[in-house]
Amino acid sequence: MQNYNSVLIVDDDPVQIAVLTAYFAGLKVKSIHGAEDSTVALDMLSKKSTDFDLIVSDIQMPNMDGIEFMRHLKELGYSGKLAIISGIKGNLIDHAARLAKLHNLQLIGGINKPLKKNALDALFLSNQPKTALVNNAGEYKCTNADFAKALKNREFKPYYQPKVDVQNGRIIGAEVLVRWIKPDYGTIAPNLFIPFAEKKGFMEELTFLVFEKVLSDLSRFLPLRSDLIFAFNLPPTMINKTALPAQLMARMKSANVTSKSISFEITENSILNLEPATLEVLSRLRIYDFDIAIDDFGTGSSNINILKDFPYSELKLDKSYVSTIATDNFSKEVVVAAIKLARQQGMCLVAEGVEDRQTWDIIREMGIEYAQGYYFAKPMDASSFCEYITSQKDDQGANAA
Ligand code: C2E
Ligand code: CA
Ligand code: CA
Repeated sequence: MQNYNSVLIVDDDPVQIAVLTAYFAGLKVKSIHGAEDSTVALDMLSKKSTDFDLIVSDIQMPNMDGIEFMRHLKELGYSGKLAIISGIKGNLIDHAARLAKLHNLQLIGGINKPLKKNALDALFLSNQPKTALVNNAGEYKCTNADFAKALKNREFKPYYQPKVDVQNGRIIGAEVLVRWIKPDYGTIAPNLFIPFAEKKGFMEELTFLVFEKVLSDLSRFLPLRSDLIFAFNLPPTMINKTALPAQLMARMKSANVTSKSISFEITENSILNLEPATLEVLSRLRIYDFDIAIDDFGTGSSNINILKDFPYSELKLDKSYVSTIATDNFSKEVVVAAIKLARQQGMCLVAEGVEDRQTWDIIREMGIEYAQGYYFAKPMDASSFCEYITSQKDDQGANAA
């Protein structure tokens, strides 16, 4: 986590200053100053009474706007970090980012008003220049060569999110979720680079790299709990390659891991039209005794036929329905229908995206077997996952009702 000692908040709106002050106080920042006018802020800086290591500045201010403020920051030789906030939709933040770069200022990123805790955390709990890797549309921008190099350096790491038994909160396994640990940047979430990897044909190499790392991590997990099952996401572009089952098995054999410890997830959309090659791959995986789950259920053009075509073992209810089940009747109806379907097909159910106790109570009452979500645990690296298993062992289900 980034440790800031001294933060200056520049915003003509005192309410925003109060909100940010409370936020940084929560982060235990020792000295927090506010300035309702950028000229006051510049005055504080030029007096050098305090050495700020972070300035958070609004872009729209009456006396001197954020753009001009940045120019003065440069003139004053400010060397700390800078974050900008904007109340205007559009690419003003990107424009400011380009300017900051021109001025050699260390811009860590920008956020839009209204300020939300998630956005603040994303910006301030990591010290990465987010704007450098993501374009306006929030898409990842890097070159093929960058990505190839990252693969070669094995910069991708499996994270593990516990899957728990809904009845007692006890962990039964985990879903494997990849993270890119980029040395000069920090941790990058999969939604930012998987679409790129898919488009540029890197998915196979990435998948096998992560799979190998999981197999190696299992030598730490399984001695602690030999019954845990690790669910691995298979990308749509790979499940129609008939060589896939043998390639996976070969790696498992050399790592001495059996199919009882691994299961696979494929998205509902990737099997809407089951090609013969895909059917062959899935059948072979079943013959090897792997469980196969349908992921993101409810987001595709769900129809009962995709469930009838093949003996899938598990249905994962998409988090967009699960997280709104308590408040949205439509979500509840979708979940009820999915439960009915799953029962007809003899599949078990996993609710993904359980974020609070209320949702947990509802899905338990509905008879859903397993759950995954921030309420129980966020995805974590292998070492934290070891600690998680150990702590549950000690108290027999940390969240048990
Ligand atoms: P997914 O397979 O649907 O994975 C579940 C996503 O939901 C994960 O996001 C997880 O962190 C998030 N999640 C879990 N519980 C909660 C919750 O309570 N609230 C909220 N808001 N979110 C929750 P993550 O790790 O960012 O992964 C995003 C997607 O990237 C995954 O969605 C999956 O489609 C893809 N992905 C991740 N790792 C891999 C991988 O190794 N291979 C492939 N092919 N795809 C992957
Ligand atoms: Ca998944
Ligand atoms: Ca999912």
